[in-house]
Formats: sequence, C-alpha cells, structure tokens
Amino acid sequence: ALTIGIVGLPNVGKSTLFNALTQNDVLAANYPFATIEPNVGVVELPDPRLKVLAGIFGSERILPATVSFVDIAGIVKGASEGEGLGNQFLANIRESDAIAQVVRAFTDSDVVHVAGQVDPASDMETINTELMLADLQTLEKAIVRYEKEVKGKKVDPAVLQTALDARALLEAGTTLSSAGFDASPIRELGLLSAKPFIYVFNVDEGVLGDAGRMAELAAMVAPAKAVFLDAKIESELIGLDPEDAAELLASTGQTESGLDQLARIGFDTLGLQTYLTAGPKESRAWTIGKGWKAPQAAGVIHTDFEKGFIKAEVIGFDDLVECGSVAEARARGKARIEGKDYVMQDGDVVEFRFNV
Ligand code: GDP
Repeated sequence: ALTIGIVGLPNVGKSTLFNALTQNDVLAANYPFATIEPNVGVVELPDPRLKVLAGIFGSERILPATVSFVDIAGIVKGASEGEGLGNQFLANIRESDAIAQVVRAFTDSDVVHVAGQVDPASDMETINTELMLADLQTLEKAIVRYEKEVKGKKVDPAVLQTALDARALLEAGTTLSSAGFDASPIRELGLLSAKPFIYVFNVDEGVLGDAGRMAELAAMVAPAKAVFLDAKIESELIGLDPEDAAELLASTGQTESGLDQLARIGFDTLGLQTYLTAGPKESRAWTIGKGWKAPQAAGVIHTDFEKGFIKAEVIGFDDLVECGSVAEARARGKARIEGKDYVMQDGDVVEFRFNV
C-alpha cells in the first residue's frame, strides 16, 4: 500500500498526532491477519456514502478504504551536514509515497521550541532545506555515475539531463515538488523533495475557527495542500464516543476532525480514488489509482476478476440513492454496462462480471 511519511522538527506535535493516528488504527479490527508495524498507523478514509449503501443493501458491515502513515523520526537543523540524516530516517522517508510535514503554529510557553520561537515559515524552510540538501548529495553521486554510464551508452542521456535539471532547481532553493518537476526518469534515486507534500499545521484551538489565519498559512504552502488541526484535541477526540466527539468538534468550529481531513487530503495527494461495492455482507470502498480502467479496478478485488473480466455494471452513487434499489435503477435505465475501456469514476457502485 502507498504510505505517507510524517516529518517535522522536534516538539511540533508529531508524536501526539501519530498516537492519535494509531489509536484510531483500524487495521487490527478489520484486517486481523495483517502485520502491524509499530511505526505505521492505518486510518480509515471517511466516506459517508458507505453508511447509505449499507442501509440500501442491508449490509452486515462497512469496510472503508484506508490510508497508511509512517512515523519518521525528527529532523533537526544541520542534520544533512556532518553525520547526515540517519540511515533509518532516509530509508523510511525514501519508501514513503508522500510527505506530511507537521508544522508548529501553536503557542505554548511550556513547550520548548527548538529554534526559540514559534515561526512556521522558518520551520518549514529548515525542514525543506534539509530535504533538499539530502537530495543534492544524492544527485551529486548519481550525476558522476550517470556521466560515466552515458559515455558507455548504458543510460539514456535524458536521465542525466533530468538529474542536472533537478540539481539546478535545488541549487536555486526550490523543492522539486513545488516546482512541479517530473522526476520520473530518475525515480530510482528516491528524491525526497520530489514527493508530493502536505503541510499539517498544528495550531491553537482558537485558530480552527479563524478562516483568515488559516488562509494566511495555506497561502504560504500553496499549491501544496494544508491541513489544520490541534494535535491535543485530536488525541482527546479519539477517546470519546461519537456523540461527545461531535460535540467537542463543533465547539472548535470544525465540521471534520483533523485526522479525517488528513486521511482525505492524504488519499487525494497520493493520487488515489475509490469505487464502491455493496451487498448483504458488506458495503465496501476499494482503492484504485485515478484514471484506472474497469479491468484493473476489478483486479483489486481479485486477480481473477481482472484476468476474466467481461464487463461491469455501474450505477452512480447519487442515481442509486435516488432510485433506492438496484432493480429500480435498472428499470429506470440508470445501471450502465461498461466494457474494458471504461475509466472508473469516483462514486461508481460496481458489480463485475467475469469468467473464472
Ligand atoms: P514531537 O517531538 O514532534 O513528536 O512532539 P510531541 O508530540 O512530543 O509534542 C511536544 C510537546 O508539545 C508535548 O508536550 C505535547 O503535549 C505538546 N503539544 C503537541 N501538540 C500540541 C498542541 O496542539 N497544543 C499544545 N498546546 N501543545 C501541544
């Protein structure tokens, strides 16, 4: 599964957030045979449509899609000099498919700030500089190797050129993802600053209802996405029953918990979407990539579904809700038969037909 690595300076609230993520861990409950790694938190992608489907189909259970987060130990200023970023750190972050950077925006004189004062812009610069310096080190070595390989005709000159372009951007102080740089020819290098970024602003409770302040922070990181939460409140929400949690959430001026926001925006940043299946046993969301065609999507349920794919019966979620049942949707011509070239759409409720 694709994962999002959580990074940030020390004392910004990473552990508090990650604890909330792991206490919310659905893996143990829904997937009892899955291996659970200590530094991975698996959370549900909130999807209110599943409850509606379960009502229509009388499903016994609901299985949402999930998003995985990896806790990656803190980065400090200067980490890429001297000893360099730790090997374990680099391995974990290289394996992540996106990076969620936790940024301290809360003021609390009891919590020491590593740089002496709360300054989100400066903190983000510190982290991004470390990631960029690590990438520059990787590129320096790779460029020497690529130059030899181009001479020996073992590598496409375009690969070397991509590495040179990446180095130039980094030297100019831009992360590769914020420049929209396509690093796919040099994917093997696992460049950190080329991964999609999400910024998680850990703010004071009061800020959660302050649209102006949030817009200000969001503008600092655009076009990357920003999530606003109070990690302390997130950890409190986890312990509450749904009603009390809703009350606490409402009191902070939020309609959605920070963890839900993070799951939703994380899922989207990873380039993922879902389609839905429903029946008396379960209503379920299945994770696919954006732009996937029907057979590939069927393969997520079972490889045989992809190999033996014949067609898919697709009903849009809104159509199904309006019709109230599959039979009625068919009667009104809202159930479409789609073939192997059909590109899956978000909210498709699907039944695959296949040869075994
Ligand atoms: P990490 O070093 O980034 O993992 O940070 P921690 O999660 O350990 O948090 C550092 C300290 O800040 C702890 O004492 C937390 O209780 C506190 N803290 C974390 N999030 C918040 C927050 O949103 N508001 C306040 N006031 N304190 C927080």
